[in-house]
Amino acid sequence: MLQFEESGPAGLARQPVRADRAPSPAPVEEELRRVNVADKRIINGSTDVNQLVPFKYKWAWDKYLSACANHWMPQEIQMSRDIELWKNPNGLTEDERRIVKRNLGFFVTADSLAANNIVLGTYRHITAPECRQYLLRQAFEEAIHTHAYQYIVESLGLNESEIFNAYHEVSSIRDKDEFLIPFIDVLTDPLFRTGTPENDQKLLKSLIVFACLMEGLFFYVGFAQILALGRQNKMTGAAEQYQYILRDESMHCNFGIDLINTIKMENPHLWTAEFREELRELFHKGVELEYKYAEDTMPRGVLGLNAAMFKEYLRFIANRRAQQIGLEVLFEGATNPFPWMAEMIDLKKERNFFETRVIEYQTGGALSWD
Ligand code: FE
Repeated sequence: MLQFEESGPAGLARQPVRADRAPSPAPVEEELRRVNVADKRIINGSTDVNQLVPFKYKWAWDKYLSACANHWMPQEIQMSRDIELWKNPNGLTEDERRIVKRNLGFFVTADSLAANNIVLGTYRHITAPECRQYLLRQAFEEAIHTHAYQYIVESLGLNESEIFNAYHEVSSIRDKDEFLIPFIDVLTDPLFRTGTPENDQKLLKSLIVFACLMEGLFFYVGFAQILALGRQNKMTGAAEQYQYILRDESMHCNFGIDLINTIKMENPHLWTAEFREELRELFHKGVELEYKYAEDTMPRGVLGLNAAMFKEYLRFIANRRAQQIGLEVLFEGATNPFPWMAEMIDLKKERNFFETRVIEYQTGGALSWD
């Protein structure tokens, strides 16, 4: 029988120890080793991260179940109308084509960054098994999103090298990624450990940047643009995929916000005035970067959208994210110029906006044992 030494990030660097090097635990110690629900913590909790139940963070488990019920795969969505429209020289304007290419240029690598951040960074620092369970599902969804963008690129016959290199070559995309990368690097550093106020703040800051700015803000210009195309009956296959991605991403963002708020509740000493000020600066920087991206993708008004509308929209979203984690409003009086986006986020699978077919995953039993 193997036991584990308590060292390193939970569940990662715990070295197996031969039982013959330690005396067998007495029955009373066996009892003590059982995870007590009151002792569970999101960070710096029990080193035994394998006991999912008893549940403490039921919200995380419920999100895991909802995410599984929303399962979808890119290849279920018909792309033939999109392909026909894309290949037709008069099918789309140059500005509309620019939007599609810039969008894919950002997203084909963005979800890979998000996946790496979870798998190589965040996951090992989170000690609540319920939250780890959701993160595993989320990581798979990031893979599905990368798959969806690749599927669109391939279906339309776009220049793969141009699209997949956009994050190096297009400054409005590169700047967003360069803003994010230090917040991934801090968590993936093998020497990084939580457990001091300074490092716990680093982890919390990284979680906030990813949930509120990456998934909660940097995705929204691109989502609104492609969904606006879909609303005009253009690129409806791509728009349908973006709609499913938006639904997943809004859950990633909400999970992140619940995670952040629970860490705050369990560790109130981290939420200092100085820390909040640092966050406000990051939010301002995020809005600025996403607005530059909006301007770059829409040098002129297109599809009834223009960059100025996005300035308002981004301020509106940033206010909402700030309030969701308990920061004060950043942009007084900002309103939502795209109320139809809320309808897209609240998509129910059985009532798909673009009305193409979707397979249900909520039933099991497809196997035959004959
Ligand atoms: Fe995500």
